Amino acid sequence: SAKKGSKSKLRFYSKALKEESMRRLELENALRKAIDENQFELFLQPIMNLATGVITKAEALIRWRMPDGSYTSPDQFIPLAEQTGLIIPIGKWVLSRAVEMVKVVLQHQPDLKVSVNISPRQIADRQLFEFVSKVIDHSGIPAQNIELELTEGVLIDSYDRVKKLLEQVRDIGISTSIDDFGTGYSSLSYLQKLPIDNLKIDRSFVYDLEQNENDKAIVLAVIAMARSLKLGVIAEGVENQYQADFLLDNKCDIAQGYLFSKPLPFEQFCDLLIAQKHAKKT
Ligand code: C2E
Ligand code: MG
Ligand code: MG
Ligand code: MG
Repeated sequence: SAKKGSKSKLRFYSKALKEESMRRLELENALRKAIDENQFELFLQPIMNLATGVITKAEALIRWRMPDGSYTSPDQFIPLAEQTGLIIPIGKWVLSRAVEMVKVVLQHQPDLKVSVNISPRQIADRQLFEFVSKVIDHSGIPAQNIELELTEGVLIDSYDRVKKLLEQVRDIGISTSIDDFGTGYSSLSYLQKLPIDNLKIDRSFVYDLEQNENDKAIVLAVIAMARSLKLGVIAEGVENQYQADFLLDNKCDIAQGYLFSKPLPFEQFCDLLIAQKHAKKT
């Protein structure tokens, strides 16, 4: 009967829900353990100056190395870390590790910036600025070597907090980027009102640049807007030479992507910097 059918449907849904919440609980427990047992690594992805071919920045990207040696991608655990608040201790670890890396990297390339992703929950944390400035202070690195990446959503959701945070970080010399630009719902007027340094064009617009006229139009519009607002512009997800040439021809001269390098373990990143330094000398 119809009644019976809907009952079994209900049972089906509740079973799926139960499985989903079990899965989340397991992941949450594993994540807590990962924090306690230090299962994270911070990789660096080179960000290139397209005109000179020189590495000018690097984006810090977290990696979770499971006890069995496999890696879980951040897209699979950052959202849960956000929801559970575990992003607060994880984010602190990321910042501290990034600052440690800067300290070493400075010996090879004094003007290299390392950019760190900051998620909305971290921005809601009232101690964020204090933590950032303390870590930088204690390490003795110049704040100019650190950049923070925020996503568009936070500009609107917590405008006043973000404005204050951006002013505080700018005051001490930290620069900022809006990450995944074009995928959120930021109001353009905010870009003009807030102290932001760069826009990062989301890789979804770069991916099909060669074939897709709409993506071309969007990328050109973002570059033009960034330039007229006196913001820097960085392209993400550059995988082929066509994309790199298109960007450079259209005055976006900073980019990251697999064409240049995947995110690298710290040692490998340093080797690349050292190789670059030697190449410049000869
Ligand atoms: P995101 O900040 O937009 O980082 C860029 C992502 O694009 C990285 O993925 C990077 O590996 C990937 N990528 C770079 N170049 C290419 C390319 O040419 N092709 C393709 N297909 N992908 C490319 P990843 O490392 O998996 O990180 C995913 C997202 O997880 C990040 O996106 C960021 O939102 C978040 N995330 C990563 N690390 C952290 C962290 O330490 N803290 C926080 N709060 N979020 C993080
Ligand atoms: Mg990012
Ligand atoms: Mg991005
Ligand atoms: Mg992203």
